[in-house]
Amino acid sequence: MSQSLIVFKPSGKVEYQYNNKITPFNEFISCIVNETTNDLDTNFFTTRLNQKRFYGYKRDQVYVAIYFDAITTIDSEKIKSSLNSIARTFIKFEDEDDFDNTKLTQLIDLQFNQLMLMKSDVKTVETKLETPKPDTITAINKKKVNPINKKMRKWEGGEMVDVDSSQVLDYSVGQLSNIDDSSNLISIDDSNFIKENELVLVNELQQILQDEDDSIDNQNKHQSGGLTGKFFQKISGYLGGSINVDDVSKKFYEQLISKNVAASTSKIIIDKINHKLLNKSGITFNVYKQTLIDELTKILTPNVSTDLLYDIKKNSNSQRPYVISIVGVNGVGKSTNLAKLAYWFLQNNLNVLICACDTFRSGAVEQLKVHVNNLKRLNDSTSSNAKIDLFEKGYGSGDHVVATAKAAIQYGSENQFDVILIDTAGRTHSNTRLMAPLKKFGDAANPDKIIMVGEALVGTDSVEQALNFNNAFGNKRNLDFFIISKVDTVGDLVGTMINMVMATNVPILFLGTGQTYSDIKRLSTKTVVEMLLN
Ligand code: GDP
Repeated sequence: MSQSLIVFKPSGKVEYQYNNKITPFNEFISCIVNETTNDLDTNFFTTRLNQKRFYGYKRDQVYVAIYFDAITTIDSEKIKSSLNSIARTFIKFEDEDDFDNTKLTQLIDLQFNQLMLMKSDVKTVETKLETPKPDTITAINKKKVNPINKKMRKWEGGEMVDVDSSQVLDYSVGQLSNIDDSSNLISIDDSNFIKENELVLVNELQQILQDEDDSIDNQNKHQSGGLTGKFFQKISGYLGGSINVDDVSKKFYEQLISKNVAASTSKIIIDKINHKLLNKSGITFNVYKQTLIDELTKILTPNVSTDLLYDIKKNSNSQRPYVISIVGVNGVGKSTNLAKLAYWFLQNNLNVLICACDTFRSGAVEQLKVHVNNLKRLNDSTSSNAKIDLFEKGYGSGDHVVATAKAAIQYGSENQFDVILIDTAGRTHSNTRLMAPLKKFGDAANPDKIIMVGEALVGTDSVEQALNFNNAFGNKRNLDFFIISKVDTVGDLVGTMINMVMATNVPILFLGTGQTYSDIKRLSTKTVVEMLLN
């Protein structure tokens, strides 16, 4: 992954840059100018352009912007707080008469590097078992799950970049056997990574940041209502009176977009509402809003059973275990959510076999091995009689995936497993060459359910992701469910759920709400609709 950071003024003048990658910011800046970014919070916004995720923060008359050229695992709160701190550091220095550019650069570099350390998952793994609480599902309490660095990287043009997934990967078995699961139990103190000469800088930085600037914060709070907020405040005085439907629909359209619902999806919804209200007289604000609430509720309400446990138990007389395969783009949380499902099944006394069918990405099998070992330890500490195991046949391309899946189903049938959860390789949804093998896999493994994991962070691109995965299995087969991951990182910007369901008519099974095994929740349609219209 590469990333770059700039500090710039509303005039467009770049005051500071890290990583010399100005060009990709040009488009982002035009999104800021055209107000097409998505607000994550007051003065904190994001967008995705050309495979890059941008975040921007505005403080006073200073913008700080960053991009990641792959999905980042740093949660947006941490990004916001770092960008805010960088802006404050810049403002503080800018105000000084004897402006020390070197010191400023050092301090910003330090903050940038500290933010980047947060995605160095390998260093910060801390896994510790909790004593199970009797009335709740317990989980492994850990800061970070990923024990294996998943992406192949190379040094190119002065920066670390991901190797294209279509390139040859290292399948060396010797290397894989060196991986020691127990290393994940080591707790590491981040402060050990701070070099001695940086400690002085850290102290200085702390002083700068302690210097709270209440006036700016108050000003930010004051502005937080934004256009939509002000509009709704104004209109609330007229709730009982009839409204101008065009005005109200325009504002609700903007409201949906501000919650990460794609513009095309928002338009379809609002057009539908307007059509429903056509020829009705005396439409009040409340009538309009209620019609929209009903429509959003209808979109999110599954029209098929989502009772997986019932289906699996019903299948228990069959020779073949219940087979579920998990698909999705790289990094969205497929293996984490597969592990969460496994944990839930174990809690329900079901024997779970996890099949490692991401036979392509270096480290994928080991990542699952760690999850299975964690789940075994967790399961052993409860009264559950259920068992969990990993089925893997190492790495390989071509027919190896299908052969592994078939062998796992055979093994599961012979060894009394109730459920087989098949992990598949992450793939770029827009790359037809990478998507094509999914059909072959679906035909051969014939899973009872295909679940796509989509991340709540993704925004507008979620429509295309959902469509492409839904179409990948041929005419006779669709996705059965979505799991929407990382919902904990988006606040009330939950529009991705609407985008994915509207595009495909596939219901949401669960929401992923964090990085521990119990961070999985049923969808509360009411809560999501409230968040969208809040
Ligand atoms: P995969 O490549 O699709 O298998 O993705 P992983 O399962 O390896 O997950 C990628 C990253 O997302 C990991 O750091 C996970 O801990 C993180 N992740 C997965 N689900 C969630 C979630 O619901 N919330 C948060 N905050 N992080 C998640």
